[in-house]
Amino acid sequence: MFGCIFCQVAAHEKPAKILYEDSQCLVFEDIHPKAPVHLLVVPRKHIRSLNEDLDDDEALLGHLLTVAGRMAKERGIDSTGFRTVINTNAEAGQTVFHLHIHILGGRILQWPPG
Ligand code: AMP
Ligand code: ZN
Repeated sequence: MFGCIFCQVAAHEKPAKILYEDSQCLVFEDIHPKAPVHLLVVPRKHIRSLNEDLDDDEALLGHLLTVAGRMAKERGIDSTGFRTVINTNAEAGQTVFHLHIHILGGRILQWPPG
């Protein structure tokens, strides 16, 4: 979508530390990491948030989680533990309105989150 930062990263129009790419998604490092490991799993398709009608995107959403688990393993945080987060709308803290899964790990994460 025009003007969307994550669409621009996906199109290689904006720089990012991309760690993984396939036909459906990409994984890159968060520019303002909140943990020693902070990655974003981002679908190529512009989906605003989980508030959209996603009936036709179930396979894609499953793929994103599969990739998230694989990346956590690759970064060595699978056995210590990691958190996957999707923020939706203002009160959850969503700032980029292109669906993404945060992967956070490498330190002890508090629960419940703030
Ligand atoms: P959220 O607040 O859940 O929408 O998450 C958006 C995340 O994207 C934040 O953690 C930002 O630090 C991150 N972010 C924003 N712009 C970029 C960018 N150009 N490259 C990498 N991460 C970004
Ligand atoms: Zn987008």
